[in-house]
Amino acid sequence: MPAKKDKTASLKTQDATFTCKFCEKSKSLSEMTVITRFFPVTVACRECAKKLG
Ligand SMILES: [Zn+2]
Repeated sequence: MPAKKDKTASLKTQDATFTCKFCEKSKSLSEMTVITRFFPVTVACRECAKKLG
């Protein structure tokens, strides 16, 4: 019996997430903010960006 690949499994790849390195929570990319005042430029979630000022 040949292995059948389920094509519906690849439909969920659109929901890209990013793990915030400050709170280590996985959030969607739309929640992420680039903090340009840091060098190198750092990406954090909105909550942490607020805390960082
Ligand atoms: Zn965060």
